[in-house]
Amino acid sequence: MDFEKREYFRGILLEEMRALLEEAEKTVSEMNADTTNFPDPTDRATQESDRTFELRIRDRERKLLNKIREALERIENDSFGTCEMCGEEISEARLKVRPVTTLCIDCKIEQEKAEKH
Ligand SMILES: [Zn+2]
Repeated sequence: MDFEKREYFRGILLEEMRALLEEAEKTVSEMNADTTNFPDPTDRATQESDRTFELRIRDRERKLLNKIREALERIENDSFGTCEMCGEEISEARLKVRPVTTLCIDCKIEQEKAEKH
């Protein structure tokens, strides 16, 4: 992959990371600011399920952040865009949709088939 394309994907990944971190920070500061007591049990239940939802989102964010970091590392060591199963190049169209992917579309389909069995 040439320099320009690497920079292009690095830009996408960094932007995605920035957006995620911003979102995560917002969630954390909302949780910290939220010290109100709810005397009404209905309000309380709503508040608690919101919190569960937030925690789940944060778990998803954390996993995605790890994937973005790994993708940035692959850009650094020049393995970005190479399928880790077959060693072929991953198509640019696929990388644009999902820059954190480590598998070409064929291997991804194979993997999903294998997971179903
Ligand atoms: Zn492959």
